[in-house]
Amino acid sequence: MLDQLEAQAPDALLALIKMYAQDPRDDKIDLGVGVYRTNDGATPVFRSIKAAEQRLVDTQDSKSYLGPEGDTGFVDAMKPYLFGDDAGIRGRLEGMQTPGGTGAVRLAVALAKAAGVTRVHLGVPSWPNHAQILRDVGVETVTFRHARANGTADTDALLETIANARETDAILLHGCCHNPTGIDYTADDWGRIAKALADKGILPILDVAYHGLGQGLEEDVAGVRTVLVKVPEALVAYSCDKNFGLYRDRVGAFYMVARSSSGLPAIVSNANALARANWSMPPDHGGAAVRTVLCDEGLTTQWLEELDEMRARMRRVRERLAAADNEAPGLNLAMLGEQNGLFAMLPLSKDQIVKLREDHGIYMAGSGRINVAGLHAGNTDQFIAALADVTR
Ligand code: PMP
Repeated sequence: MLDQLEAQAPDALLALIKMYAQDPRDDKIDLGVGVYRTNDGATPVFRSIKAAEQRLVDTQDSKSYLGPEGDTGFVDAMKPYLFGDDAGIRGRLEGMQTPGGTGAVRLAVALAKAAGVTRVHLGVPSWPNHAQILRDVGVETVTFRHARANGTADTDALLETIANARETDAILLHGCCHNPTGIDYTADDWGRIAKALADKGILPILDVAYHGLGQGLEEDVAGVRTVLVKVPEALVAYSCDKNFGLYRDRVGAFYMVARSSSGLPAIVSNANALARANWSMPPDHGGAAVRTVLCDEGLTTQWLEELDEMRARMRRVRERLAAADNEAPGLNLAMLGEQNGLFAMLPLSKDQIVKLREDHGIYMAGSGRINVAGLHAGNTDQFIAALADVTR
């Protein structure tokens, strides 16, 4: 039976990690894997999280089961950061903890399907797992172009997609810090998108995986909030794996906004049933650590400072790259200063990407995606010189 299975292609980024590890050059640069790095190239545990974890070790008196909704204290503590003054949706909003943002996206798509959604519109390129999840859950993916060659979002393509959508369609949108392009919608775009979604009445699934890594905690979710006050119903997938540095602990949340408060319990009960069938309940530790941070003023302040430091560092790298626009003509580096988050896409050919790796020890995804946080004061000039070399 099992020998009927066809071999699947290995994850391209994992292969890149291996190649990078085997490269003996001291000045090699890893721009592949999507994790934040400090100026020293490390991905440390946040100090606020360390302190919260210590508190959990000292005070947690049971590891007995929770329900499929996980740590509701965590889910509630995150709400003000994500939804702000949620007056427009108060009473129609409920959330649950999920295994990472991936679990939340999966649950959103599965719930949409259970409610009758048959197709999901997806801007491309996107995080590769989006398409995999849609396929695995069993809904059709309909793609539209996310970005223009000039480095801005192709909002017209999105609005046209919404206008032509069917009633039983949903649309999956990145809330901020688009992966892989770093190209987000402007405030004006979000206003038009929200109106189009409300007019058409199709279900938005909003994926917020890099909250606070773009322009700021409030700024990064302004677009999501613009949509939520306009549309009758929506699903939001949230990840704490980047903004709390919890990657392997798998911390996410899934929020449902219903048409009416009376309709909410049935929706939540379906999400609970799907969660039970998928993972029964989410892993507790990371969510409990985030709750501990957010329920303590001192730890919250420390977390906000750590997040500010990350964001400021990435903005500095982006500014340095943008200032080098003339050194590598054709790559439109200037736009990197306008874009957000961990990622940017450079319009490099396959040959140029191979040359960067072989001649300069610079490792990036085959798509031309770079992790901006792989650069720092000590290697950015080297990276720019290498770009100048391969684009000469
Ligand atoms: N959505 C997007 C757009 C992402 O880039 C990611 C993470 N790479 C996720 C969701 C999932 O995040 P997590 O690691 O928390 O599962």
